[in-house]
Amino acid sequence: MIETRRPAFIDGKPKQLLIDGQHVDALSGKTFQSFSASTGELVADLALAGAEDVDRAVRAARAAFEGPWSRFKPAERQAVLLRLADLVDAEFQDLALLDVIEMGRPITAAMGLRGMLQRSLRHFAGAATAIHGETLSNSFPVDLLSYTLKEPVGVVGAIIPWNGPLFSAAWKIGPVLATGCTIVLKPAEDASLSPLRFAELCLEAGVPPGVVNVVTGAGETGAALSAHPDVDKIAFTGSCETGQRIIAASAGSVKKVTMELGGKSPNIIFADADLDAATPAAAMGVFNNSGQVCAAGTRLFVERPVYEEMVQRIAAFAANLKIGPSLDPETVIGPLVSAKQFARVSSYLDLGPQEGARLVTGGHRVTGGALDQGHWVAPTIFADVTDEMRIAREEIFGPVSCILPFDSLDEVIGRANATRFGLAGGVWTRDIGKAMTAVKRIRAGSIWVNHYFAMDPSVPFGGYKMSGYGREGGAEHIDAYLQTKGVWIRT
Ligand code: NAP
Ligand code: MG
Repeated sequence: MIETRRPAFIDGKPKQLLIDGQHVDALSGKTFQSFSASTGELVADLALAGAEDVDRAVRAARAAFEGPWSRFKPAERQAVLLRLADLVDAEFQDLALLDVIEMGRPITAAMGLRGMLQRSLRHFAGAATAIHGETLSNSFPVDLLSYTLKEPVGVVGAIIPWNGPLFSAAWKIGPVLATGCTIVLKPAEDASLSPLRFAELCLEAGVPPGVVNVVTGAGETGAALSAHPDVDKIAFTGSCETGQRIIAASAGSVKKVTMELGGKSPNIIFADADLDAATPAAAMGVFNNSGQVCAAGTRLFVERPVYEEMVQRIAAFAANLKIGPSLDPETVIGPLVSAKQFARVSSYLDLGPQEGARLVTGGHRVTGGALDQGHWVAPTIFADVTDEMRIAREEIFGPVSCILPFDSLDEVIGRANATRFGLAGGVWTRDIGKAMTAVKRIRAGSIWVNHYFAMDPSVPFGGYKMSGYGREGGAEHIDAYLQTKGVWIRT
């Protein structure tokens, strides 16, 4: 049974910035409001951080980086992360509910993230005591010992989107605590509450003040953070366009930058695949979180002999998905995050038929009763989509699947790669040779064979091409928060 009482954190009081361990108003006194995607109700008033607040937060993060935190031993940072994991687990329902209420993720799906969140925090805890340099041989004419030291990169500015706020906050703060960095986190204005509460739990877990700071606000807040001269690294998750702006802003002080951007991922079903398994996975590979997932398999390529059969099967599956309020445990399809996102998705619902695509199911807003207060879109399938259509090229970030027919392996790989993105891809076949060929040739950061969406903190995730650079998950995730120092000692 899922308890759906209101989390204590939503208490009607305005939410302040978290700087140097203190809850503070924006210096300008400005605030903004956050509304529930599902019910339309006001969830909270939040402080709107300006450039001067970002500056305060960066100063606090710098002082903490150089202060007592720098003397925390790896085992002490590990202990802090393990305490944080326990606190997060004890409060998991409330944390997940903040996302359910604020950005509209259906409650059953939100509760399902518990295991992954725990594995992640414990993974970062393990990483804290596993950081090491190397001893390297050299050919210098005199005797010199050469080795590397791994050191924390410093003050991290992290900017995250609204589609997975709790998880995104954990994947930015976790490696910061593991490596001894400090952080100023800017959540999305549509989903600030779970990151704010997560940061409070860091303090409760024994993270010193100033190590984890949160500046809530708008795009300008993120822009101020990405241009701040004393930020050493920017870790960004979000859209490609914003990512490009951040890269440009970071150039002034030559920051280290990692980018987790969008995608238009191919999911390829060959005629010899287990079609019973492929059907629900292909559908949920798009409709999960109402399509507001960066790695969604939104270009679904189906081999011609089974094309129409699969179009009908996936459409039947999609038409049966339960659409409802976010707090209803039966709900699979929740609302889009905002009116702005709805307008964006709607424009593509109109565009599909104009471009000549065949609407098989969905294609419209769902209203009535409780659904009148938010923006629900029925799971939508366009068939007979061709590569040059905009619905097949642009990231829609809504519950819209484009199904394209193909005739051969070479052809489909070429078409799968004909995109500026390269975040993920799927392959469905019983032929191991075909699967391995596709794995090698698809230019994307994650490939799933005969399933879709597996993620783990031990396995790297990230983009090729314009889907970004750097990896989250795996050793590279931790490494992105470290500097390497080469040391030479005359012996
Ligand atoms: P977005 O507009 O790029 O926003 C992401 C974050 O950047 C938000 O916190 C946003 O603040 C902030 N921001 C906006 N303008 C900024 C600027 N000029 N400088 C610095 N920060 C700025 O993305 P979104 O529409 O919220 O999220 C959806 C996008 O994220 C999709 O494209 C999706 O594919 C991508 N995404 C990628 C991944 C991944 O791991 N690869 C994961 C999730 C989402 P405000 O929200 O307050 O404007
Ligand atoms: Mg926004």
